[in-house]
Amino acid sequence: MKIGVIGGGQLGRMLALAGTPLGMNFAFLDPAPDACAAALGEHLRADYGDQDHLRQLADEVDLVTFEFESVPAETVAFLSQFVPVYPSAEALRIARDRWFEKSMFKDLGIPTPAFADIQSQADLDAAVASIGLPAVLKTRTLGYDGKGQKVLRTQADVVDTFAELGSVPCLLEGFVPFTGEVSLIAVRARDGETRFYPLVHNTHDSGILRLSVASEDHMLQGLAEDYAGRVLKQLDYVGVLAFEFFEVDGGLKANEIAPRVHNSGHWTIEGAECSQFENHLRAVAGLPLGSTAKVGESAMLNFIGEVPAVDQVVAIDDCHLHHYGKAFKVGRKVGHATLRCDDMATLEQKIQQVEALIAG
Ligand code: AMP
Repeated sequence: MKIGVIGGGQLGRMLALAGTPLGMNFAFLDPAPDACAAALGEHLRADYGDQDHLRQLADEVDLVTFEFESVPAETVAFLSQFVPVYPSAEALRIARDRWFEKSMFKDLGIPTPAFADIQSQADLDAAVASIGLPAVLKTRTLGYDGKGQKVLRTQADVVDTFAELGSVPCLLEGFVPFTGEVSLIAVRARDGETRFYPLVHNTHDSGILRLSVASEDHMLQGLAEDYAGRVLKQLDYVGVLAFEFFEVDGGLKANEIAPRVHNSGHWTIEGAECSQFENHLRAVAGLPLGSTAKVGESAMLNFIGEVPAVDQVVAIDDCHLHHYGKAFKVGRKVGHATLRCDDMATLEQKIQQVEALIAG
């Protein structure tokens, strides 16, 4: 089976690493000459709106999936005429736009921060008056890793901020005084069967994920599964979906969904029976889903900007290096390490060892 992937970054690369043993081949559509997934499949180097290359991709593959959600809706609509596309154009339409996404949560009875659609500075001033400060202004589309957003703490922060974010449609959210951030990686098959991985605790710095730790019997697991299950059903979703939540007042508030494999699920490559990458491919290909059970304690640390010396990373017992083969650059995710062990105390020690390498 040949899978077409829109985007050729590290997520595409890890999909191919998981799918190759299943007998799958891959073609990646990505305009970047140095797309790091290209090492593992065919690289169609073209813009996402290039209909000739989209048609070529559709002719060559059995189905198409995505490694990022900011794909133009027209690209998905065009491809869908010729080849099955999972997740669907409708799931992408909702998940790529924070207004549609939060409105869906509200309709499904899933708690969210207070939010308002912002089309102008006047909208922003009115929304700040009703939601209050602090608040977070985010572009409705194309934001990632903390980009395209600004925390507003005082009235001085509000002045001219709509223009500062590019005068594009935005969402204002009330600031959530969360005690933690967790994400749930879910997978839904073509026949509707749904499985969930254990909730993951995430630590961000400057809007970028640094550390994910898979939890054991988290008291909010059932609630998170309930909320994610509503979304998956509503979207008739096929594939892996990541759901990010704020932990607040002993419950959960929905932050966002990502209609794809997700950074906070990378630990599953070594830490779960079947990884998020393999399960995404199983789901879109119509294969039975694999077990989402954890195998021991597990954590993932991102390498941002550069990868520490390889010999030092792999010298740590049960530390698995994933080097994305990308050029090193400040703020860019260039690799990660997964840690696996039998108990949480040892896991904490190993996390500190990797953090020391990152700091050094
Ligand atoms: P996002 O791109 O929406 O996931 O936001 C990136 C990070 O900014 C989140 O992981 C939080 O740490 C923080 N953040 C985003 N929205 C809020 C909010 N409404 N209240 C508090 N912190 C937020």
